[in-house]
Amino acid sequence: MSAPVKCTTHPDELAGWQCRGDCKAYLCPKCTAQLVRLYTCCRCGGPAHRLSVPRRSKGLAHWIGVAIARPLKMFPMFALFVLLLGGIAFVDISSGTPEVHRIATIVKLALVTVYALFVVDAAAHGAPDSRTPLRVARALAAVLFVLAPGIVYAYFVGVPGAAAQHDHAMWLFGGLVVAYVPVALAVAVSEAPMASLMNPFTMFEVAWRLGRTYLGTLVVVAVLVAAAVSLATGGSASLKQSVPTPLVGDAVAAIPWLWSLGALAAMIGLLTYVHGDRFGWGHTAEYVEPLYPKMVALGARKLADRSSAAAGMTGEITRLDAAERADAGKLDDALRTENAARAIKLYEGRATWSAAAVDDRKLVAIARCAVRVKRLDLAERLLDDAVARKGRSCGQAMLALAQLHGDSLGNADRAAALYASIVEQFAGSDVAKVAAKKLAG
Ligand SMILES: [Zn+2]
Ligand SMILES: [Zn+2]
Repeated sequence: MSAPVKCTTHPDELAGWQCRGDCKAYLCPKCTAQLVRLYTCCRCGGPAHRLSVPRRSKGLAHWIGVAIARPLKMFPMFALFVLLLGGIAFVDISSGTPEVHRIATIVKLALVTVYALFVVDAAAHGAPDSRTPLRVARALAAVLFVLAPGIVYAYFVGVPGAAAQHDHAMWLFGGLVVAYVPVALAVAVSEAPMASLMNPFTMFEVAWRLGRTYLGTLVVVAVLVAAAVSLATGGSASLKQSVPTPLVGDAVAAIPWLWSLGALAAMIGLLTYVHGDRFGWGHTAEYVEPLYPKMVALGARKLADRSSAAAGMTGEITRLDAAERADAGKLDDALRTENAARAIKLYEGRATWSAAAVDDRKLVAIARCAVRVKRLDLAERLLDDAVARKGRSCGQAMLALAQLHGDSLGNADRAAALYASIVEQFAGSDVAKVAAKKLAG
């Protein structure tokens, strides 16, 4: 980054936003207003966006720090797993039978795997969301896919250190797994297609593309694995002795190595969080951080002037003449039967329509027909008209207009601004709920 950008209006203040409306100014907190998750420029009322930096512009050291702090960020989950692992260790040790020990080991392994996968996913997405369980299942499938040959081999031939003490093939396989699993997990939680998940060539290609980043991550992960293993075997024993209460001691002993495991899982998830676009997942523009994450918009929103257009239209009820009444009847039929092409033809068949024949509710319906027959210009005109009338369907019209801009005209900023004003003007209504959901998504 070169010299920080300053506010256009206040040259002494740092700019955290830029106007995307008419004035294109750089904006400080006082010059920016916030509504739900949308920012607007206080100078011209147009939409504003946060200035951001690519996540990858922050070095490996920064992300290692983030990974180490990650288990603390998910503290309730961390505490739950510490308690569970402590409880299992307690049952295991106090029973002392080999059967219980075997079951305890399997349960512990399963718990540790689930915990690690959840942390990978949370780190990859910033926080767990509703699709987390699905992605965790995908990650599990990806890992089992690569581990399956090893498990089969170990079952029939033996594990290194036991029956197959000097089995080079097994060690080679182990090395391959260590290099493969992190990238497989990172891709699995990225919602990339399932087919690429089961394709080792895709994985190695991604690892290759990440290059030094991946190598760096592998080294950090290896160090943390070593730390977790040594803490789980040696370190926890002394820690346990320092806490005399049995069950609490077992739980406390699990803290250091589970933390280490969480940090390494976060390290893997951060590959996706920082470099997901390089896996072909999402656009590079999404992999950014706010330039000043703690900056809060303080300005008051400037309202766009939208009173003049509608003046005179409302209240003025014209008596329909017979011809218009007949045309209106046909138009109603076309709308009722959802014959979009016919509705548009009938609507355009008359030079003018009185507000009594085509009210704002009908304008919205005709606009929907126009969208269906790909007459987007007409749809926009009709909806603008419907909004300007400020009738009972004004909210519906604004919602349809926002959808038209967002979904069909590729005008995301205008759509966002419209959703924001719907939320503001029709607070508590159904249209506001839909608009708020659109803004949040
Ligand atoms: Zn502006
Ligand atoms: Zn300013």
